[in-house]
Amino acid sequence: MAEKSSALAYNRKTVWEHLTGQEKQEAMNLAEDYKVFLSRAKTERESAALVAEQAQNMGFIPLESVKGHLKPGDRIYRLVKGKSVLLAVMGGCPVTEGFNVVGAHIDSPRLDLKVHPLFEDEGLALLKTHYYGGIKKYHWLALPLALHGVVYRGDGSGVEIRMGDEAGDPVFTITDLLPHLARQQMEKNVNEAFPGENLRVICGSLPAENTDIKNRVKENILLLLHDKYGLTETDLVTAELELVPAIPPRDVGFDRSMVGAYGQDDRVCAYAQLAAMAGIVSPPRTAVAIFTDKEEIGSVGNTGMQSSLFLDFTAELVERSTGVYNELLLRRALSASCGLSADVNVALDPGFADTVEKDNTARLGCGAVLTKYTGARGKSGSNDAHAEFLSRVVRIFDSRKVIWQTGELGKVDQGGGGTIAYMMAAHGMDVVDCGVGLLGMHSPFEVTHKADLYMAARGYAAFLQE
Ligand code: MN
Ligand code: MN
Repeated sequence: MAEKSSALAYNRKTVWEHLTGQEKQEAMNLAEDYKVFLSRAKTERESAALVAEQAQNMGFIPLESVKGHLKPGDRIYRLVKGKSVLLAVMGGCPVTEGFNVVGAHIDSPRLDLKVHPLFEDEGLALLKTHYYGGIKKYHWLALPLALHGVVYRGDGSGVEIRMGDEAGDPVFTITDLLPHLARQQMEKNVNEAFPGENLRVICGSLPAENTDIKNRVKENILLLLHDKYGLTETDLVTAELELVPAIPPRDVGFDRSMVGAYGQDDRVCAYAQLAAMAGIVSPPRTAVAIFTDKEEIGSVGNTGMQSSLFLDFTAELVERSTGVYNELLLRRALSASCGLSADVNVALDPGFADTVEKDNTARLGCGAVLTKYTGARGKSGSNDAHAEFLSRVVRIFDSRKVIWQTGELGKVDQGGGGTIAYMMAAHGMDVVDCGVGLLGMHSPFEVTHKADLYMAARGYAAFLQE
């Protein structure tokens, strides 16, 4: 007979056991849509464009096209430089009473092409890269890679490149050393064995017909780029080209309970908050969703969360709903606001259980993860949510049947990391991290649980409608 647990004790719940048949079907259906989203949104640009496209389908219109005052129930969005998006559904009460905000990021670790990427060595054409975000470099070897991004030609016209994801597309790859010759490599520590400068991608091996020219293999690639896209090598200097795993999102497990895919940090939360916004019709307080860029390199730049993008957007909401620009009103609104920083956290991986502390670590399939604090070396860089606010979020979740658990990013002094929580809190609002547990974070194939995606979407919806 199973032991009964104390009614006074905290008990982590397995989501699946608490879902009705219909909810299980909804969770599976949501994951199907999520996989389609992931397969289309493999870069921050593609994610921003797709969020904007889906927001339009949900009745959101560009803020710039709004005529007259914003009214309760109005649905608006703003696309910032094609790399970040903000959505809002105007609430019934005055903006000075604050917004409910969820914020996720849509950039993921990857390999960016260098400014001068193309060279030839020993009859092979190769591309030099500089990695973006925190990666384990060996993950990117012996993997099919797709090339995504934009290039501008000399005449100012742009061309979008997306090669390696469709059936029949060629892919790119960084080859690894054969084990037969890897004795010295295997004796090195991992950092020394896989230097970042060696992440060079094979992109061709046929020589150009012109025998007078040096580097005929490189020349042949330039000819192909010119034929297909009208590009020159100089155009690559100003380009933004990213290499991402050419692996489609897949169900994981005999039971198909999980999703395996690249870029789920943090597109799983981005997708969950987009799904939540779809159902927000007439919220009491204005509901805002932020989809931001550059989180993986410190939220810098004018599309990152440290920029004025959120302040600019909320200032517009205040001005366009009250009819005046009033900084005091804006400040009152922001400090009365509440936020969920929607980012992933580590889920306990039985293979690496000694890196986490089991009582305080999230589990796959046990619901939305509330993370009071992140940070490293004594919570440094962490938002550390207040008891009053965390308790309120828990009560909102409990009242709306949101199954939640708590998370912590590793054992004390094991390492750590941060999210955009403290940048949201810098505006005066109360914030706590709330996201989805992940296995294999920052690897080319991250794993999430479908029930956790479902609960995160329900949690964000509950919070936004409060
Ligand atoms: Mn993240
Ligand atoms: Mn990350």
